[in-house]
Amino acid sequence: MTVPVGGPAGGSPSEAPAEPAADAPGEAGPAGLDPGVRAAALAARGFMPPEEGDALWEAAGQAADAVPEMPFLEVGSYCGRSTIWLGDAARRAGTVLFAVDHHRGSEENQPGWEWHEPGLVDPAVGKMDTLPHFRRAVHDAGLEAAVVAVVGPSPIVARHWATPLAFVFIDGGHGDEPARLDYEGWTPHVAMGGFLAVHDVFPDPADGGRPPYERIYLPALESGRFSEIRAVGSLRVLVRVA
Ligand code: SAH
Ligand code: MG
Repeated sequence: MTVPVGGPAGGSPSEAPAEPAADAPGEAGPAGLDPGVRAAALAARGFMPPEEGDALWEAAGQAADAVPEMPFLEVGSYCGRSTIWLGDAARRAGTVLFAVDHHRGSEENQPGWEWHEPGLVDPAVGKMDTLPHFRRAVHDAGLEAAVVAVVGPSPIVARHWATPLAFVFIDGGHGDEPARLDYEGWTPHVAMGGFLAVHDVFPDPADGGRPPYERIYLPALESGRFSEIRAVGSLRVLVRVA
């Protein structure tokens, strides 16, 4: 698999459920995850591989146990694939997921870039629009009561955010600046004992773009505020310790 610098890695965008071979390792999903919900996640377009989505779901459930009552937040929802795993974990925990995305796509999703899907451009506007696909995916997964879309630029939402969060998942812009801003904007809102999950973390540059690793994962560990508890594929899960 080739992974572009700065690109969302971990599998091709898929419209249909991923091929059986690709899904085989985690075919059944974790105990307790409704197979229908998992199938809805796999049916959504996006970049979250099944075993990493399963790990996200498990981690979010643990975070809710550790820090009850607090909501979850995702940066970078695209067409709702990771959103479904996280939204289901939120629903089960009796909380909600805020899903932050401007829905205009990252740089690497734009026409001419490797991770562009032509069907996602709104022809009347001439820009990408993943919001209708996101909305449909959340509806089809039965999660409209547990997922609150926040449509706008992540740094602006972060600047006005005040609620402590049990779980923050960062999978937004993968350039240096967006990754740095997501680190600065969102990590202070992770409650003590809550979790920070980061996607597309590639310690080896041969595997993919560096910013999530260099601008989010490493600074989080080096700050002394977070310690790592799980790694699956390019997903890293950290717990807030200070
Ligand atoms: N988590 C998704 C993939 C996310 S792709 C999945 O499971 O498939 C990255 C998303 O981040 C894109 O939808 C893009 O619109 C969004 N994004 C990038 N930069 C952003 C920013 N500054 N503010 C809000 N959303 C952003
Ligand atoms: Mg990703």
